Amino acid sequence: MIHQARKRFGQNFLQDTNVINSIIGSAMLNETQHWVEIGAGQGALTKRLIDKVKFLDVVELDRDLVAFLQRQFSAHVNWQLHSADALQFDFSQLARENQKLRIIGNLPYNISTPLMFHLLSHAYCIQDMLFMLQKEVVDRLCALPDSKSYGRLSVMMQYYCKTEWLFDVPPESFQPVPRVMSAMVRLIPYEIPQVTITNVAVFERVVADAFSQRRKTLRNALKKILPEYVFTDLNIDGDRRAETITLSEFAQLSNAIHALH
Ligand code: SAH
Repeated sequence: MIHQARKRFGQNFLQDTNVINSIIGSAMLNETQHWVEIGAGQGALTKRLIDKVKFLDVVELDRDLVAFLQRQFSAHVNWQLHSADALQFDFSQLARENQKLRIIGNLPYNISTPLMFHLLSHAYCIQDMLFMLQKEVVDRLCALPDSKSYGRLSVMMQYYCKTEWLFDVPPESFQPVPRVMSAMVRLIPYEIPQVTITNVAVFERVVADAFSQRRKTLRNALKKILPEYVFTDLNIDGDRRAETITLSEFAQLSNAIHALH
Protein backbone atom coordinates (compact mmCIF):
# COMPACT_ATOMS: atom_id res chain seq x y z
CA MET A 1 0.00 0.00 0.00
CA ILE A 2 1.23 3.49 -0.82
CA HIS A 3 0.16 5.63 2.09
CA GLN A 4 1.59 9.08 2.63
CA ALA A 5 2.29 9.15 6.39
CA ARG A 6 0.35 11.92 8.13
CA LYS A 7 2.27 13.86 10.71
CA ARG A 8 -0.81 15.18 12.46
CA PHE A 9 -1.87 11.60 13.21
CA GLY A 10 1.57 10.76 14.62
CA GLN A 11 2.17 8.15 11.97
CA ASN A 12 5.47 6.29 12.30
CA PHE A 13 5.01 2.80 10.96
CA LEU A 14 6.98 -0.10 12.38
CA GLN A 15 9.09 -1.74 9.74
CA ASP A 16 11.76 -3.68 11.64
CA THR A 17 10.78 -7.35 11.83
CA ASN A 18 13.06 -7.99 14.82
CA VAL A 19 11.30 -5.28 16.81
CA ILE A 20 7.88 -6.59 15.77
CA ASN A 21 8.97 -10.10 16.86
CA SER A 22 10.10 -8.74 20.24
CA ILE A 23 6.79 -6.95 20.77
CA ILE A 24 4.80 -10.04 19.87
CA GLY A 25 7.10 -12.15 22.07
CA SER A 26 6.50 -9.95 25.09
CA ALA A 27 2.73 -10.01 24.49
CA MET A 28 2.44 -13.75 25.30
CA LEU A 29 -0.56 -14.24 23.04
CA ASN A 30 -3.02 -17.07 23.26
CA GLU A 31 -6.32 -17.98 21.66
CA THR A 32 -8.40 -17.31 24.77
CA GLN A 33 -7.56 -13.60 24.94
CA HIS A 34 -9.45 -10.50 23.87
CA TRP A 35 -7.08 -7.82 22.53
CA VAL A 36 -7.59 -4.20 21.55
CA GLU A 37 -5.12 -2.54 19.20
CA ILE A 38 -4.98 1.25 19.15
CA GLY A 39 -3.74 2.93 15.97
CA ALA A 40 -3.26 -0.10 13.73
CA GLY A 41 -1.89 1.90 10.80
CA GLN A 42 -0.91 -0.43 7.98
CA GLY A 43 -1.40 -3.48 10.16
CA ALA A 44 2.23 -4.31 11.11
CA LEU A 45 1.09 -5.60 14.51
CA THR A 46 -2.48 -6.45 13.51
CA LYS A 47 -1.40 -9.21 11.14
CA ARG A 48 0.64 -10.83 13.90
CA LEU A 49 -2.17 -10.61 16.45
CA ILE A 50 -5.25 -11.58 14.51
CA ASP A 51 -4.40 -15.26 13.99
CA LYS A 52 -3.29 -15.89 17.55
CA VAL A 53 -6.06 -14.43 19.71
CA LYS A 54 -9.73 -15.12 20.30
CA PHE A 55 -10.91 -11.63 19.44
CA LEU A 56 -9.31 -8.40 18.30
CA ASP A 57 -10.84 -4.93 18.35
CA VAL A 58 -8.96 -2.33 16.31
CA VAL A 59 -9.34 1.43 16.80
CA GLU A 60 -7.97 3.66 14.02
CA LEU A 61 -8.58 7.35 13.35
CA ASP A 62 -7.30 7.80 9.79
CA ARG A 63 -10.15 6.92 7.40
CA ASP A 64 -7.80 5.92 4.59
CA LEU A 65 -6.10 3.42 6.87
CA VAL A 66 -9.48 2.20 8.14
CA ALA A 67 -10.46 1.39 4.54
CA PHE A 68 -7.11 -0.32 3.99
CA LEU A 69 -7.37 -2.42 7.17
CA GLN A 70 -10.94 -3.42 6.30
CA ARG A 71 -9.77 -4.79 2.95
CA GLN A 72 -6.59 -6.32 4.28
CA PHE A 73 -8.23 -8.42 6.99
CA SER A 74 -11.64 -9.02 5.39
CA ALA A 75 -11.10 -12.78 5.41
CA HIS A 76 -10.98 -12.86 9.22
CA VAL A 77 -14.09 -13.15 11.37
CA ASN A 78 -12.61 -12.71 14.85
CA TRP A 79 -12.12 -8.97 14.70
CA GLN A 80 -13.92 -5.66 14.57
CA LEU A 81 -12.68 -2.36 13.23
CA HIS A 82 -13.68 0.92 14.90
CA SER A 83 -13.18 4.06 12.85
CA ALA A 84 -12.78 6.33 15.85
CA ASP A 85 -10.64 8.62 17.95
CA ALA A 86 -9.13 6.53 20.76
CA LEU A 87 -9.22 9.58 23.05
CA GLN A 88 -13.03 9.63 22.87
CA PHE A 89 -13.57 5.90 22.61
CA ASP A 90 -15.52 3.98 25.25
CA PHE A 91 -13.23 0.98 25.80
CA SER A 92 -15.40 -0.59 28.49
CA GLN A 93 -18.15 -1.31 25.91
CA LEU A 94 -15.77 -3.83 24.29
CA ALA A 95 -15.39 -6.10 27.30
CA ARG A 96 -17.51 -9.24 27.25
CA GLU A 97 -18.41 -11.91 29.77
CA ASN A 98 -16.19 -10.37 32.41
CA GLN A 99 -13.07 -11.05 30.40
CA LYS A 100 -10.53 -8.28 30.82
CA LEU A 101 -9.02 -6.60 27.79
CA ARG A 102 -5.40 -6.64 26.78
CA ILE A 103 -4.42 -3.40 25.04
CA ILE A 104 -1.58 -2.86 22.59
CA GLY A 105 -0.44 0.05 20.46
CA ASN A 106 2.41 1.85 18.83
CA LEU A 107 0.86 5.10 19.94
CA PRO A 108 0.91 8.51 18.33
CA TYR A 109 3.37 10.21 20.69
CA ASN A 110 1.53 13.54 20.74
CA ILE A 111 -1.52 12.00 22.44
CA SER A 112 0.13 9.26 24.49
CA THR A 113 -0.25 10.79 27.96
CA PRO A 114 -3.93 11.81 27.71
CA LEU A 115 -4.67 8.48 26.05
CA MET A 116 -3.09 6.49 28.89
CA PHE A 117 -5.16 8.39 31.47
CA HIS A 118 -8.30 7.99 29.35
CA LEU A 119 -7.67 4.23 29.32
CA LEU A 120 -7.16 4.25 33.07
CA SER A 121 -10.70 5.52 33.49
CA HIS A 122 -11.66 2.06 32.17
CA ALA A 123 -8.99 0.27 34.21
CA TYR A 124 -11.42 -2.13 35.87
CA CYS A 125 -11.87 -3.94 32.54
CA ILE A 126 -8.20 -3.84 31.48
CA GLN A 127 -5.72 -6.60 32.24
CA ASP A 128 -2.65 -4.83 30.89
CA MET A 129 -1.39 -2.37 28.26
CA LEU A 130 1.65 -2.74 26.03
CA PHE A 131 2.71 0.52 24.47
CA MET A 132 5.42 1.81 22.19
CA LEU A 133 6.17 5.35 23.37
CA GLN A 134 8.82 7.98 23.22
CA LYS A 135 11.65 6.63 25.41
CA GLU A 136 11.66 9.76 27.53
CA VAL A 137 8.03 9.10 28.46
CA VAL A 138 8.75 5.45 29.30
CA ASP A 139 11.63 6.62 31.52
CA ARG A 140 9.24 8.92 33.35
CA LEU A 141 6.55 6.25 33.72
CA CYS A 142 9.04 3.87 35.33
CA ALA A 143 11.24 6.31 37.31
CA LEU A 144 11.78 5.96 41.04
CA PRO A 145 12.41 8.84 43.50
CA ASP A 146 15.77 10.61 43.35
CA SER A 147 16.19 10.03 39.65
CA LYS A 148 16.22 12.61 36.87
CA SER A 149 13.05 11.35 35.20
CA TYR A 150 10.95 11.11 38.39
CA GLY A 151 8.04 13.53 38.35
CA ARG A 152 4.30 14.03 38.20
CA LEU A 153 3.76 11.38 35.50
CA SER A 154 5.75 8.77 37.49
CA VAL A 155 3.77 9.32 40.68
CA MET A 156 0.34 9.45 39.02
CA MET A 157 0.89 6.41 36.80
CA GLN A 158 2.53 4.34 39.54
CA TYR A 159 -0.50 4.94 41.74
CA TYR A 160 -2.70 3.23 39.13
CA CYS A 161 -0.33 0.73 37.55
CA LYS A 162 2.71 -1.43 37.85
CA THR A 163 5.00 0.04 35.18
CA GLU A 164 7.63 -2.05 33.45
CA TRP A 165 10.19 -0.94 30.86
CA LEU A 166 10.63 -3.72 28.29
CA PHE A 167 13.19 -2.57 25.69
CA ASP A 168 14.41 0.45 23.73
CA VAL A 169 13.71 0.84 20.04
CA PRO A 170 15.90 2.99 17.74
CA PRO A 171 14.40 5.55 15.31
CA GLU A 172 15.42 3.51 12.23
CA SER A 173 12.85 0.86 13.16
CA PHE A 174 10.08 3.15 11.88
CA GLN A 175 9.06 4.72 8.60
CA PRO A 176 9.14 7.71 8.53
CA VAL A 177 12.07 7.84 10.96
CA PRO A 178 11.12 9.79 14.11
CA ARG A 179 13.52 12.22 15.77
CA VAL A 180 13.43 10.49 19.15
CA MET A 181 14.30 7.13 20.69
CA SER A 182 11.34 4.90 21.51
CA ALA A 183 10.75 2.18 24.08
CA MET A 184 8.17 -0.47 24.90
CA VAL A 185 6.45 -0.35 28.26
CA ARG A 186 3.96 -2.61 30.01
CA LEU A 187 1.36 -1.06 32.33
CA ILE A 188 -0.59 -3.38 34.62
CA PRO A 189 -3.47 -1.67 36.49
CA TYR A 190 -3.55 -2.64 40.17
CA GLU A 191 -6.73 -4.40 41.26
CA ILE A 192 -5.99 -3.21 44.77
CA PRO A 193 -4.08 0.08 45.02
CA GLN A 194 -0.64 -0.14 46.62
CA VAL A 195 -1.39 2.92 48.74
CA THR A 196 -4.67 4.27 50.09
CA ILE A 197 -5.74 7.66 48.78
CA THR A 198 -8.85 9.13 50.34
CA ASN A 199 -9.48 11.65 47.55
CA VAL A 200 -7.86 11.31 44.15
CA ALA A 201 -8.56 14.93 43.12
CA VAL A 202 -6.65 16.19 46.17
CA PHE A 203 -3.81 13.76 45.44
CA GLU A 204 -3.61 15.03 41.84
CA ARG A 205 -3.45 18.62 43.07
CA VAL A 206 -0.74 17.89 45.64
CA VAL A 207 1.43 16.04 43.11
CA ALA A 208 0.94 18.76 40.47
CA ASP A 209 1.74 21.58 42.91
CA ALA A 210 4.73 19.75 44.37
CA PHE A 211 6.35 19.34 40.96
CA SER A 212 5.27 22.71 39.54
CA GLN A 213 8.63 24.23 40.39
CA ARG A 214 11.09 21.42 40.76
CA ARG A 215 13.67 23.41 42.64
CA LYS A 216 11.34 24.61 45.36
CA THR A 217 11.19 22.86 48.70
CA LEU A 218 8.01 20.94 49.41
CA ARG A 219 7.15 23.47 52.12
CA ASN A 220 7.17 26.32 49.58
CA ALA A 221 5.51 24.42 46.78
CA LEU A 222 2.61 23.34 49.01
CA LYS A 223 2.40 26.51 51.12
CA LYS A 224 -1.10 27.38 49.91
CA ILE A 225 -2.65 24.02 50.70
CA LEU A 226 -0.63 22.48 53.52
CA PRO A 227 -0.18 23.93 57.02
CA GLU A 228 3.34 23.58 58.40
CA TYR A 229 2.38 21.33 61.33
CA VAL A 230 1.31 18.56 58.93
CA PHE A 231 4.96 18.00 57.95
CA THR A 232 5.84 17.51 61.60
CA ASP A 233 2.84 15.25 62.22
CA LEU A 234 3.76 13.04 59.28
CA ASN A 235 7.47 13.21 60.00
CA ILE A 236 8.22 14.42 56.48
CA ASP A 237 10.92 17.08 56.19
CA GLY A 238 9.44 20.17 54.45
CA ASP A 239 12.90 21.09 53.16
CA ARG A 240 12.90 18.09 50.86
CA ARG A 241 12.13 18.53 47.16
CA ALA A 242 9.29 16.80 45.33
CA GLU A 243 11.66 14.54 43.41
CA THR A 244 12.62 12.76 46.68
CA ILE A 245 9.04 12.10 47.83
CA THR A 246 7.76 8.54 47.42
CA LEU A 247 4.26 7.58 46.26
CA SER A 248 3.41 6.53 49.79
CA GLU A 249 4.55 9.91 51.18
CA PHE A 250 2.48 11.76 48.56
CA ALA A 251 -0.49 9.64 49.66
CA GLN A 252 0.08 10.59 53.32
CA LEU A 253 0.36 14.29 52.45
CA SER A 254 -2.77 14.35 50.33
CA ASN A 255 -4.80 12.32 52.85
CA ALA A 256 -3.77 14.80 55.54
CA ILE A 257 -4.90 17.72 53.38
CA HIS A 258 -8.16 16.01 52.54
CA ALA A 259 -8.77 15.39 56.25
CA LEU A 260 -8.51 19.15 56.92
CA HIS A 261 -11.61 19.84 54.81
N1 SAH B 1 0.58 0.27 14.66
C1 SAH B 1 1.11 0.75 13.41
C2 SAH B 1 0.93 2.27 13.21
C3 SAH B 1 1.59 3.15 14.25
S1 SAH B 1 1.51 4.87 13.82
C4 SAH B 1 2.57 0.37 13.30
O1 SAH B 1 3.16 0.05 14.32
O2 SAH B 1 3.11 0.40 12.20
C5 SAH B 1 0.20 5.43 14.87
C6 SAH B 1 -1.20 5.09 14.36
O3 SAH B 1 -2.17 5.67 15.23
C7 SAH B 1 -1.51 5.63 12.97
O4 SAH B 1 -2.11 4.64 12.20
C8 SAH B 1 -2.49 6.80 13.23
O5 SAH B 1 -3.37 7.04 12.15
C9 SAH B 1 -3.22 6.28 14.46
N2 SAH B 1 -3.84 7.33 15.28
C10 SAH B 1 -3.41 8.60 15.47
N3 SAH B 1 -4.19 9.26 16.34
C11 SAH B 1 -5.16 8.37 16.72
C12 SAH B 1 -6.30 8.46 17.59
N4 SAH B 1 -6.58 9.59 18.25
N5 SAH B 1 -7.08 7.37 17.73
C13 SAH B 1 -6.79 6.22 17.06
N6 SAH B 1 -5.74 6.08 16.22
C14 SAH B 1 -4.94 7.14 16.05
